[in-house]
Amino acid sequence: MTQFEFDRAHLWHPYTNVVQPGPVHHVTQAEGVWLTLADGTRVIDAMSSWWCTIHGHRHPAITAAMHAQLDRMPHVMFGGLTHDPAVQLGQQLLDITPDQLTRIFYCDSGSVAVEVAMKMAVQYQYATGHPGRSQFATIRSGYHGDTWKAMSVCDPNTGMHHLFAGALSMQHFVDRPPITLTENWVDDPALNGLAQLEQVLASNAASIAALILEPVVQGTGGMYFYHPEYLNTARRLCDDHGILLIYDEIATGFGRTGRMFATNFCDHAPDILCLGKALTGGHISFATTMASDRVAQGIGHGAPGVFMHGPTFMANPLACTAASASLSLLAEGTWQQDVARIEAQLEAELAPARTLPGVANVRVLGAIGVIEMYHDVSADTANRMAPELGVYLRPFGRKIYTMPPFVTSPDELTAITNAMLSLARVL
Ligand SMILES: *Cc1c(COP(=O)(O)O)cnc(C)c1O
Repeated sequence: MTQFEFDRAHLWHPYTNVVQPGPVHHVTQAEGVWLTLADGTRVIDAMSSWWCTIHGHRHPAITAAMHAQLDRMPHVMFGGLTHDPAVQLGQQLLDITPDQLTRIFYCDSGSVAVEVAMKMAVQYQYATGHPGRSQFATIRSGYHGDTWKAMSVCDPNTGMHHLFAGALSMQHFVDRPPITLTENWVDDPALNGLAQLEQVLASNAASIAALILEPVVQGTGGMYFYHPEYLNTARRLCDDHGILLIYDEIATGFGRTGRMFATNFCDHAPDILCLGKALTGGHISFATTMASDRVAQGIGHGAPGVFMHGPTFMANPLACTAASASLSLLAEGTWQQDVARIEAQLEAELAPARTLPGVANVRVLGAIGVIEMYHDVSADTANRMAPELGVYLRPFGRKIYTMPPFVTSPDELTAITNAMLSLARVL
């Protein structure tokens, strides 16, 4: 049995049917934006490996820091112990996140960061005398992860709520904010979606612990960019009703939108912030949930006082080190020019897609470029075409999109946009 045959016979891939598994390519090496396949073909990773490898694969500064940490201490438990990588990363995170967020919980993956955030909100409400507040409000077409509590606040249609209906917690959904990022804000609450949000929060305040959403950019739920003004009022409504506000920046964090965080489109901070994906520059799984002092003190001064969560690999030193090295690269600041350059080039080179038959919408924000079709497109066909296009793209639903590494050169980006246009013609 070849390695490839073993994979086909035994390994489960994300969202696949083992009976009809679809194509996979065998990758043997990754460097910068390039993936090398087993037959020597090279393709550009236009997905940043699910939006993580912002500095490119195998960045020398990150791998060097990881090698050094590997030689000292790849892992040690965090219960009753601490270490330099955790402390140093904490300092770097406090430097770049809103001042109100002062407490850091390190965990393994994005979905776990969301579980931790939701548990924090429920425990805060319990500890401050509101044990009835255990549900969540959210906006439709969101995505927050694949674990149970996270899944309960994913879009009820694309999140397959019907399949798991009996097993999922009931949550409160409102429509996604109707006014897009590039449209003029409309103050009328009946038109800007805020009347519906206010109605749901006001009438269920006794049972809602928090409002959770992806600020400004909804990722997997639809690649939708909405107006940040919505969030300013959402912040005020949460305060009025004693409801916490959770921002899931697992997709948007660390420069992807052109700002360090999508929260920076607003002048407020959430009570709880989830970060993941690009946190380690895509070098190893890691995530964090940050909270305001109010949330942490509320939990700490109530009963039971201890926050009831503690993963085995919490604050893994190797992952903390990778994240630290990635944040140091971001601190050099060149990402800002890189993302602005990528944004301008995506705008210019994807514009011709607007006149293609079947194309419903083309939109760009920071290092995110989307061609939205009228019909569903085939990820499998895109995958089969990757070697010939020289570009790896993984469309979903009606979207052909790229989230390239920030280090993608102009020529490499042109290869990506050409590949997207080719797919928009054939898919
Ligand atoms: C990817 C993603 C998650 C889940 O992260 P995993 O690391 O895949 O568990 C949660 N929220 C958002 C917004 C994401 O994009």
